[in-house]
Amino acid sequence: MKLKCAKCNYRFEKEEIPFRCPYCAKEGAVTMQETAQDILDEAAFI
Ligand SMILES: [Zn+2]
Repeated sequence: MKLKCAKCNYRFEKEEIPFRCPYCAKEGAVTMQETAQDILDEAAFI
């Protein structure tokens, strides 16, 4: 799945969400990256 660090915005792909960002080593900052479709879905509710 596509992942992204909320601190440094580093984007990468991995099977699992790592505890630390592999780039900046921030703990708990890595989340699933929103897809373009997710953004479109959210925009539809505004
Ligand atoms: Zn990071």
